[in-house]
This record gives sequence, C-alpha cells and structure tokens, in this order.
Amino acid sequence: FTDDQKQYLQGFVSGSELTRVARGLATFASTLGLPESNGSGPVKAGPTESVPIGPDAVHHLAQNRTLAEGKKLCAQEEAKRKRHPLDMWDDLVRHAAEDRFPKGDDVLAFKYQGLFYVAPAQDSYMCRLRMPGGILTAHQFRGIATVADQWGGGFTDVTTRANLQIREIKAANGPAVVTDLQDLGIVTRGSGADNIRNVTGSATAGIDPHELIDTRPLARAMHYHILNHREMYGLPRKFNIAFDGGGAISALEDTNDIGFTAVRVGEGKAVPAGVYFRLQLGGISGHKDFAKDEGVLLTPDQCVPVADAIVRVFNENGDRTDRKKARLKYVLDRWGHEKYVAETEKLLPFKLTRFPLAECEPRPAVVKHGHLGVHQQKQTGLFYLGVLLPVGRLTTDQMRGLADLADKYGSGTIRLTVWQNLLISDVAGENVTAVQQGIEALGLHWDATNVRGALVACTGNAGCKYAAANTKRHAMEIANYLEPRLELDHPLNIHVTGCPNSCAQHYLGDIGLLGTGVEAGDDMVEGYHIFVGGGYGEEQGIGREMFRSVAATDAPAVIERMLRAYLERRESDD
Ligand code: SF4
Repeated sequence: FTDDQKQYLQGFVSGSELTRVARGLATFASTLGLPESNGSGPVKAGPTESVPIGPDAVHHLAQNRTLAEGKKLCAQEEAKRKRHPLDMWDDLVRHAAEDRFPKGDDVLAFKYQGLFYVAPAQDSYMCRLRMPGGILTAHQFRGIATVADQWGGGFTDVTTRANLQIREIKAANGPAVVTDLQDLGIVTRGSGADNIRNVTGSATAGIDPHELIDTRPLARAMHYHILNHREMYGLPRKFNIAFDGGGAISALEDTNDIGFTAVRVGEGKAVPAGVYFRLQLGGISGHKDFAKDEGVLLTPDQCVPVADAIVRVFNENGDRTDRKKARLKYVLDRWGHEKYVAETEKLLPFKLTRFPLAECEPRPAVVKHGHLGVHQQKQTGLFYLGVLLPVGRLTTDQMRGLADLADKYGSGTIRLTVWQNLLISDVAGENVTAVQQGIEALGLHWDATNVRGALVACTGNAGCKYAAANTKRHAMEIANYLEPRLELDHPLNIHVTGCPNSCAQHYLGDIGLLGTGVEAGDDMVEGYHIFVGGGYGEEQGIGREMFRSVAATDAPAVIERMLRAYLERRESDD
C-alpha cells in the first residue's frame, strides 16, 4: 500500500484527499476490492456487482468507506452501487417497448432520466424538466405543450423550482417524452432522485432595474457544468443550487443547499469595490433550516468552481446509510460549517476570501409580490408582466396562448418563477394592455391583489404517493371561498404542502398548510396542520403551528378568520 492507501483504509483520509486519490488512482480502487480499469465505463468487480471506475469512483469509494466503517448502506445506495442509474437508458427503452413501468430499484433509476413512476397516486410517469434559471423560449414553451398533448395529460405544472412537470405519461411513451424534449433543447437528466435539481436564478435577471447582476450566465454555466460532469450525479441525496442577483423577485436562495446571493461592496474595504456573491450553505426548509452565510465573498466567476467543490465534498462525505440524514445540512451539523468550507477550499485552485457580511451593502429590497402585475424593466419603455397561474397548472392551450403573446408583444421569452407563475418580458408600454387582455382571454390573470396570486401548492395526492391531501384542489377551494368574502390590499403567501417533504415550502408562507389525516368520528379525512408567520430573505422565519389537524373542508373558514384577524389588528398597511 502507498501511504494514501494505508491512511484511507485506516479511515484517516479526509474527503478532499479522497477526491484526489479517486481522481488519479485506478490501482487504488483495486486495493479496495475493485478491479483496475482504464477509466472507461463499467467493469465487473466480482460475481455479483458491476462497478464503474472513473468519474463514478468518488461515490463508489464513498460507499466503500461507509462499508469499511462497518455500516450498512441504505437500500437506495445499494441499488446505485449495483449499477449507475445514468446507465439505465436501454432498460427504460425496453420497458417502453414492453409497455410496462419500472419496479423496485428501477423506479429510482428512471428518475435520473427525469421520469417518475408515480404509483399508487397515478399509474403513469411524471416527467420533470430542467431549464437554467427557469427561462425558456416561446418556441420551447410551445414545444413542451405539444409534448404534453401528444404523450401526457394535456397540461403542465409549474414547480417551486421554476420548472415544469408533464404528467399522465403512459409506460410506452416515456422515452419519446425525453427525446422530444431534447429535440427542443430541454434536458431532463438528473431532475429527480439523488442529483442536483434544476438550477434556479432570479426570474427578472437582465431586465430588473434593481438587480446587482444578471444571474442568467451563472445559472446556465452551472446547468451545463452539471450535465457534463458525471460525478455531479449519484449524490447521497438531492441537492439544490440557486443564484439571486439582488432583483425585485427573490430566488429564495436561502432555501437551497447552496445559495449564492449578490451583494455590493463599496469603496474603502479590504476588497475592490464591486458586485460579489455571498456563499450560503445548508438550506432545507422542510427541515426548518435556512442556508447560513459562510462569511465568504466570491467573484462571479468563482461561483461555479466553488459549487463544484462543495458538491464533491458532499458526494464523498454525505450519509449513505440513512436517507433522512443524507442532505447537506447533516454534514454541516456533524462537521460544523467552518470545517466544511475548509474541506471545500482544499479542492479549489484559489483561496476563498473571508469577508464579513456586515461590510457588504444591504441587498436591494425585494418586492414581495413582484412576480405579479406590470413592472417597468431596466430597458427604457419595456415592461414585464407577471401571469398568475392558479396553483401552477397550465393547460396546453394556455401555454400556446402565452407563447404567442410572448412572441407577438415581447421578446419570445417565458420566465418561470419559484412562485409557480411566469413572466412575459420585454413588452413595449403601448402593448401592455393587449398582453393583459390576452392573458385574461386565456382564463388567467395578472392582478397582484388576488388571493390566488400568492397561492402555492405541491402536487398533492392526485399525483404524489407521499401526499396526505389533495393540495391543489384544496388550495383552489381556499381561494374560491376567500375571494368573494375578503378583500386583500396585497396578497399574502399561502403555501399548501402534502407531506413533510414540503415541496410547497409551507414553513415559508405567511400561512402554511401541511397535509395530514384527521379523525372524523370513525373515519379519517384529509386535513392540515396550519402554520403562520413564515418568511424568507429579510423576513426570514419558520412558520409556527397555530392549528392542528383541521379537516380540509374546515380549512377555508379557519384561514378566513386568520386573515380577518390580521387585517383588523396589523400595525400598518405596509
Ligand atoms: Fe409529494 Fe410531499 Fe412533495 Fe407534496 S410535499 S409533492 S406530497 S413529496
């Protein structure tokens, strides 16, 4: 054994050293019971398992270390160990040819291609896409509508990661959805399972009069970095990255595993004046934790290499024995943030700049509901319009109609937001009314003073097996009940989520609902625990539970009482 190998076997090699070792030493793998390899694809390691060497070595070595420590891998890691899920394309095609859905380990593997078999909620696939910063062309939007018509249920859902989902896809049509999307330049790889999800950015990037920096190039660079580095897949658990450029609409970056927040540093400081990014780590709102500032200042061109290094450290050191403890937060809890940043720094070709947050200028104010209504752009005479999509659902006719409006009156750009709605940008002042009328003609709205405007709901039990309630339907019932009874002078965020995974981030809502079963006599009915007072950014806060086990049928009236109390007793109208 070399010294490195001995140290590793004794469990003394740190994560960063493991990467170094894994990158160069195929022979090192052989000492761990793996065969030598020329680095090209899967090779047989023994009678029962196939172990790829090369880019996949990091996560295999991390698994081996777990085993060497006498621990048992969780079932999902065992499945990933048998075969890298990115290598399942042929199986996926075969399943389609035989008109059958995956079973067992294959369900997880197919999510690597963006196809989620959502039984028992539905006997179909859901396909989740990825698009950097949530921005796409009208041509792509129209094309996705065609895919949803041809192979799906004729609708799409906008998600809280500024993304789209196509549902109700038959087993035979899975590969056709993925390849038709690729023809449009839309990739689905890694949009589910233990991978880096859609990279989000500021929805108003490049058009926002208040922004510090346009995040589009960064979200795009991160997106392609992931797609072109196989070792960015197969993490211990899912992983989220967001770039906030300091504009009117928050990217909710503090709810991500890595949040990059643009800041300005003025003259006379220890670094040259200019725009930088703060590094925040460990956001996971379902576990009631926001990302924390790491005391690090990054130039824009350092963000992608730093994210890469953070992911590599996580890939090597995340928990592979317990899914509930496998997110980045738990490595941070175990190590402390300082050690994590130090391990990250070991993988970088440059030193990180430590710089106190207090020395940076405050972020320009967020416009809480700037994702709705009509707003002036930084480009003189141009406006963007926020389109309200009730609980994020769009028919394909509405998609085509919006794409036509974007082409005819805007720049042919559709910008999805983390608030489950979208923006049409670059509309000349004289065309704003025509776009508003066009939106209304599609049965949608742009008005910011509407209960529906700030309603966010996850998939719910109509399409997700984890859900305890039909969140989208109940969210709409809440809106239908409230709107004729109550007038809000500005929307309040109401987030309805079906289970503790909190895809709709119920802890962040002014009002948050978490699905649960509720006893009603001898029966169980769908219901919610109701939270209040959540927020993000400057208003960062985790909602407090106010009502427990409220039947879904009672929830609208309970929320009405909460809102009336708020309107009567709030300290100011701002
Ligand atoms: Fe499914 Fe739970 Fe996510 Fe809702 S929050 S979509 S129920 S996993």
